[in-house]
Amino acid sequence: MDAKRKLVIVGSGPSAWTAAIYAARAELKPLVLTGEQPGGQLMLTTKVENYPGFADGVMGQDLMAAMRQQAEKQGAKVIDKDAVSLSVIGSQFSVVCSGSVSSQLTSSQPINRLTDQPTNQKPKTENGKLITASAVILATGASAITLNLPGEDRLMGRGVGTCAVCDAPFYRGKDTVFIIGGGDSAIEEASEISKFASKVIILVRKESLRATPVLAKRIEAIQNIEIWYKSQAIELLGDKKLEKVKIDKDGNISEFPADGLFYAIGHTPATGWLKGSGIKLDDNGYIVTGAQSITNNKQPTTSYYPTSASVSGIFAAGDCVDFRYRQAIVAAGQGCMAALDAQKWLENFLP
Ligand code: NDP
Repeated sequence: MDAKRKLVIVGSGPSAWTAAIYAARAELKPLVLTGEQPGGQLMLTTKVENYPGFADGVMGQDLMAAMRQQAEKQGAKVIDKDAVSLSVIGSQFSVVCSGSVSSQLTSSQPINRLTDQPTNQKPKTENGKLITASAVILATGASAITLNLPGEDRLMGRGVGTCAVCDAPFYRGKDTVFIIGGGDSAIEEASEISKFASKVIILVRKESLRATPVLAKRIEAIQNIEIWYKSQAIELLGDKKLEKVKIDKDGNISEFPADGLFYAIGHTPATGWLKGSGIKLDDNGYIVTGAQSITNNKQPTTSYYPTSASVSGIFAAGDCVDFRYRQAIVAAGQGCMAALDAQKWLENFLP
């Protein structure tokens, strides 16, 4: 198998597949490392009604399967393995994927361009689990943090969710929806759901909101939103769908009827495997891209590539970059941008 690929894409959500489709059509012969549980957050949703092109909506899993099929049909090669580390040897990036990796040590000690430190790694082939490429697109996504409450596994996607903005219209005419969290996301999710459900209750664990004052003020004016402070959900009840939430309200435990419950307590970008690689992450672990990613005068060209990470030749797209919008269509658009940026970069810099 050809060990010198032009482009490796890491991820398997809308950004990764869109990048793969564009890169394949540009004849970059991309290799997509999907992760061992491919598909990203859309695999956890049911019907997606806000992805353009599907008048009747589309199931999240079907959308992901269709994108993968399209990428493969255009010529992308796909490996269902996790990427576990990224480094540079000479002018090549190498991505180690899950599975045993042996005999990586060498005595030549080349410099790792990501960390400026000597590296002991030596490229191996795809069969040997270490893949080399001239450019890399990181599209590993992010996962919503949940509380792992009793009943959560059973009811996830059945009244319990992590994106109220995505699912709000399903709650048209429903009685009560709970939102857990006190940050900006909780406020936005609550105001979106309040357009559809009769009552929205925000459960805040402390005595105050963390949300920015301007957003917090906005919901004061919304009649059908209540905020319960010092309140925490402790169990989700229901057989086939969510029916009740058990809540500890300032020390008093009661069950309350519920049609929906959404977590808005933050997201974790899937970038832990990049820590120590030299790629710039922000304080919350999101990959820094574009002009902000330029850390020194070694990579002046990165400013011309909006999706470039802090290392020239590495690009990033989707929810591992975007903590604000977190929408499938935004991720897909960013995947397209990253593929076009990578294509231009390869044309300009590949010897
Ligand atoms: P935040 O980290 O800002 O807020 C998380 C909230 O969840 C906090 O209120 C926190 O409580 C609460 N929380 C955390 N863990 C638990 C738990 N175990 N049980 C109960 N509650 C818990 O995350 P957001 O997703 O709200 O925002 C992330 C970033 O995105 C922020 O920078 C935000 O400003 C930005 N954003 C901006 C928007 C906009 O400008 N329109 C919209 C959405 C997000 P506590 O306060 O007690 O720690």
